[in-house]
Amino acid sequence: MPWTSEPAPAAVAAALPPIGTALARGAMGRCPVCGQGKLFNGYLRLVDECSQCHTPLGRIRADDAPPYFTILIVGHVLVPIVFVVERAWHPPMWVHMAVWLPLFAILSALFLRPVKGAVVAWMMRLGLTGTEQGAQIPTPPTRTVPRDA
Ligand SMILES: [Zn+2]
Repeated sequence: MPWTSEPAPAAVAAALPPIGTALARGAMGRCPVCGQGKLFNGYLRLVDECSQCHTPLGRIRADDAPPYFTILIVGHVLVPIVFVVERAWHPPMWVHMAVWLPLFAILSALFLRPVKGAVVAWMMRLGLTGTEQGAQIPTPPTRTVPRDA
């Protein structure tokens, strides 16, 4: 099946916040559109739709991107430390395995959720909103501002 994507329509793009704001909201586990509703239902499962702005978030498929970026980030943080420790103290291999493997696993588990939230926000900004399979393009509702404040 050919893979295509279309840029977000003007109505969707206008309702979305700037990319930095959307990424931060996603990384904090909040709806990238409104920043109020929860993004996750559990550890990594996305909610079907935002409880505040009703943006359909559940059909956005991040697939392998969050684990890829998590491994990239955690690897770049820990591998230099591993090399420094090896060069400075030459610990036996069992010490490396006992220290680094659990540390890699723990850090990856801690980073995976915020990275997935940021990836979902990034995908929304790119227009990859789950419409590639023929579903309707979700249009987040626009905010209503009170007239007299
Ligand atoms: Zn929302």
